[in-house]
Amino acid sequence: MTPAETLINSHRLSREEYAALLIKAEDERTRELLKTEAVRLRRKYYGNKVFTRGLIEFTNYCKNDCYYCGIRCGNQKAERYRLTEEEILECCREGDRLGFRTFVLQGGEDAWFTDERMEKIIRRIKREFPDCAVTLSIGEKSYESYRKFREAGADRYLLRHETADEEHYRMLHPENIHLSKRKQCLYNLKALGYQTGAGFMVGSPGQTLETLAADLEFLQELKPQMVGIGPFIPHHGTKFANEKAGSVSLTLFLLSIIRIMLPKVLLPATTALGTVDPRGREKGLEAGANVVMPNLSPLRNRKQYDLYDNKICTGDEAAECRVCLARRVESAGYCLVDERGDALE
Ligand code: SAM
Repeated sequence: MTPAETLINSHRLSREEYAALLIKAEDERTRELLKTEAVRLRRKYYGNKVFTRGLIEFTNYCKNDCYYCGIRCGNQKAERYRLTEEEILECCREGDRLGFRTFVLQGGEDAWFTDERMEKIIRRIKREFPDCAVTLSIGEKSYESYRKFREAGADRYLLRHETADEEHYRMLHPENIHLSKRKQCLYNLKALGYQTGAGFMVGSPGQTLETLAADLEFLQELKPQMVGIGPFIPHHGTKFANEKAGSVSLTLFLLSIIRIMLPKVLLPATTALGTVDPRGREKGLEAGANVVMPNLSPLRNRKQYDLYDNKICTGDEAAECRVCLARRVESAGYCLVDERGDALE
């Protein structure tokens, strides 16, 4: 049996088998086989539904200096902003009017947002929109902080592991941050009952088929409810400014693999995928993704949340953004729905 057939039959492979499968990323037969199975599984569990998350990028202050990221603390040219509690609530109100039932609060690791401030914001959102899910994406925190946020009402947490290979992790991050801590955070989040999302960039500098195989093996072990993957895109204010962006076709191949490995996973077709290819998000849905994350951040701050160059959707109103995405989702044969879109157990 080929690794592709074994994956389809048993939903798991060894690290060596993942590496052997990834060598076939450009093989048409293997791609079609996996794509067909991925679409069959996403239809079996989610029909033609695509869930939507309102992304609120509420601060671009960050204490970390991840080498690939445009808002890393060392980038003196980044124009910093943080939203007030009232501005965050206003984004949620706009999102609620537009039919969003999940708000994703994403930001750099910004010490201004203490646990107490975050808890207050979460409680206010849950009080005003009790039928909505709150997702946090604010980086590494202690078990105790995650516990407090959960108690305040947070439902989900996105924390990409970035790479599961130690050496590769060191190429992407400064000495003071560690893969072991990142992984521990993910296990803590799962233990606390968050619907948890891990993930990585495709084509980040130093990535190899072996490091990708390690990523897939880690996802298989962690079993997150969500997986965020998108191409790496260089940012002019980082040391990776002249590196190549990640490949669309490899990203699509990986989306299909992840759908088969974790059939019920919530898998976004990311903004980064839409940035490197004008039909990237539609292609993502056609490869097995079932989530899109339009931007709800205030228009005046969108360009400032500048993770990578040429990021799309920084000039549209939230309403335009949703209408445009609904049209794109339909063109891929799916339907954007106004639901919380929880992970299936
Ligand atoms: N601070 C939080 C954290 O560490 O999880 C959330 C914000 S962080 C900016 C969100 C994600 O952006 C990261 O997990 C990373 O994968 C992605 N990202 C950062 N720079 C990128 C780049 N140059 N290209 C593609 N994705 C990037």
